[in-house]
Amino acid sequence: MQSELDEIAAILKHARRLLFITGAGVSAESGVPTFRGATGVFPNGLTEEGIPFEEVLSNSTFRREPELAWKYFFRLESSIRGKEPNPAHRAMSILQDSGREVCVATQNIDGLHQSAGSRGVIELHGNLRWIICTKCDYRVYHQTFEGLPELPLCPRCRGILRPDALLYEEMLPENALEELDRVQNSELDVIFSVGTTSIFSYVTSPVVLAIQRGIPTVEINPEETFISDMVRYRIAAPAGVSLQNILASVTG
Ligand code: NAD
Ligand code: ZN
Repeated sequence: MQSELDEIAAILKHARRLLFITGAGVSAESGVPTFRGATGVFPNGLTEEGIPFEEVLSNSTFRREPELAWKYFFRLESSIRGKEPNPAHRAMSILQDSGREVCVATQNIDGLHQSAGSRGVIELHGNLRWIICTKCDYRVYHQTFEGLPELPLCPRCRGILRPDALLYEEMLPENALEELDRVQNSELDVIFSVGTTSIFSYVTSPVVLAIQRGIPTVEINPEETFISDMVRYRIAAPAGVSLQNILASVTG
């Protein structure tokens, strides 16, 4: 493991262009639960009503039963409320501050990369705290959902409001996909996949493309994923301590 970390640090020392693809695991050490698992927001993947989270957080549930969907938007917001970035978020922002071109493309909707100081973050799944109207172009940032009514309505047109975050059954924001496409086709020196189960093709394809092009790839995740057998370096450990160690070898 140490020799792998040394090799990754050696690559990073000379790397000028980096892409980090991140998922819920990056925020786990900030105390933000992932969706699945016993301690997740949805223990065993189910809501209190016994509905799979993919269904309750879907576009069709939101349209049919917006109060039910909002009940779980509130749960998600309280799971990220008051949480601070951890060493994994900070390592990415420190690398960006070191003059390297660092792009973070995240599936997280918690805004913690930006809180850590990362700039130009690609939010593939949007951001939970930006609230938009389903009828007009009203858009506002809510630092907390505390105090919002059970079904928030637009102050301008009384349309139903929703978070500007991706619901299941919805397409990814086009501008985010275009930006990721631009970055993955730029001359990258290394790609990291951190804290994601890598089940969606848009997060695995930059890694697969990099492998085909001979660009070093690193996965950091305590659990095995779909890309674990493909990447050049695999770190089976939590993101915070791993990235902190790598950064220490690069800057030390
Ligand atoms: P996931 O919940 O399916 O998987 C999380 C992954 O993180 C797992 O592979 C797990 O092994 C790994 N992990 C757990 N602790 C880790 C740690 N300390 N260091 C590194 N890895 C760790 O999440 P996903 O695949 O990223 O995405 C599923 C959906 O969940 C996404 O749509 C995302 O928007 C949403 N989500 C977002 C947040 C957030 O914004 N923080 C939290 C939960 C879920
Ligand atoms: Zn409106």
